[in-house]
Amino acid sequence: MPDGTICAIATPPGRGGIGVIRVSGEAAGDCLSGLAGRLPEPRTASLRTLRDADGNPLDQGLVLWFPGPDSFTGEDVAEFHGHGGPVVMDRLLRRLIELGASLAEPGEFSQRAFLNGRMDLTRAEAIADLIAAGSEAAASAAMRSLEGAFAHRIQDLVEQLTELRVHLESSIDFIDEPLDGLAIDRLADRIEAVGEAVRAAREAARSGQQLQEGARVVIAGAPNAGKSSLMNALLGRDAAIVTELAGTTRDVLDAHLHLDGLPVQVMDTAGLRTGAGVVEAEGIRRAHQAMAEADHILLVVDDRNPGDDDGLGAAWPASAAALTRVYNKIDLTHRPPGVGDDGVAVSALTGAGLDGLKSHLRGVLGVRAGDEAVFTARRRHLQALDEAAAAIDEAVSAARAGYGEELVAESLRCAQDRLGQITGAVTTEDLLGRIFSTFCIGK
Ligand code: GDP
Repeated sequence: MPDGTICAIATPPGRGGIGVIRVSGEAAGDCLSGLAGRLPEPRTASLRTLRDADGNPLDQGLVLWFPGPDSFTGEDVAEFHGHGGPVVMDRLLRRLIELGASLAEPGEFSQRAFLNGRMDLTRAEAIADLIAAGSEAAASAAMRSLEGAFAHRIQDLVEQLTELRVHLESSIDFIDEPLDGLAIDRLADRIEAVGEAVRAAREAARSGQQLQEGARVVIAGAPNAGKSSLMNALLGRDAAIVTELAGTTRDVLDAHLHLDGLPVQVMDTAGLRTGAGVVEAEGIRRAHQAMAEADHILLVVDDRNPGDDDGLGAAWPASAAALTRVYNKIDLTHRPPGVGDDGVAVSALTGAGLDGLKSHLRGVLGVRAGDEAVFTARRRHLQALDEAAAAIDEAVSAARAGYGEELVAESLRCAQDRLGQITGAVTTEDLLGRIFSTFCIGK
């Protein structure tokens, strides 16, 4: 359990009408009475003068008292709503430190709330995501996680795995009555069904992760196919930040745009071709890496020579994401713009077909911003869900191969652990450190 009393300014730095300082821990009550006199009624705002050790007034404002365990962190919590100026806030903080508090680390209030069982990790992360949300859709998804949508889904999967394990482990105890073939088949079917449910949860989480962190779309293709032109045309007036990563001009360029509320990171890559020189080969290597990490690839093809990149197949990274062929320069070939069976026809020069390409992209990324089922999620959740699904697959194969209940049960336990890491039922100090250190101070 955490110990010590922490304090931090919870409002953003700078000047504002009010500035809020939060204190949590066993000395929170002493801090409150030391600064503002006797403790007020719990959870009721009272107007007080805040004073230094000699009784000189520092500020005037509202104080709130939340005795534990019914507080955000589960500990005694005091809040001071003073005037939002850096000097005032600083003097109040210094006084709180005299009274026994120390400055909080980033995310330490949320971490204490988690450690004291006030909220699971998905909810703690949802608060950070809500604060960081860059679009209404991302904020709505964060609220759904905060209300428990993600945690309940994981909890439900964990319960299904527990049931299967209980069933298996009780049959391990009765050595004389091993499961017969029929029972094993039925068991494997049930495990497989849980695997499907894990994958469905992963899909919903992926949409949430893309809403929060943005989907990665890589623009690839042969030199001069029109990749840079397409990138610029897509960004158009939606362009946010365009950054050139360090390195050669043959490096990967990335920029961000919004497709109806879905943040998308678009990456323009070096032209792909075989038989390139050393510098160019490095650019191509990076292009391959970007393609391997992408959520979707737009393969730009010069519509005048649509067969031109057939030779690129050999150089294609094996793990590359799904792709859409974009036939560019249709102003020269007079092909009508739009989405067809084999790809999307556009002209980066005239802008024809770009709206169709954008809605196609929205569709293939599979994120529906208004979708009630989408909850905020992070890459770490996706990874845990993938690992859980893989462990469940192992359990199914072990069961079908007749490897014995112990092995099957062990794989299921492993899957359960991975799911537990999402909600925090299973954690390591390292994992918690990595999660909470990305939060802001005072959160
Ligand atoms: P990249 O090497 O694939 O990035 O290709 P660029 O975007 O630099 O384009 C190569 C050349 O094709 C440039 O001269 C562009 O102006 C031209 N280009 C790109 N898109 C179009 C298009 O839709 N129509 C026409 N007519 N030219 C285009």
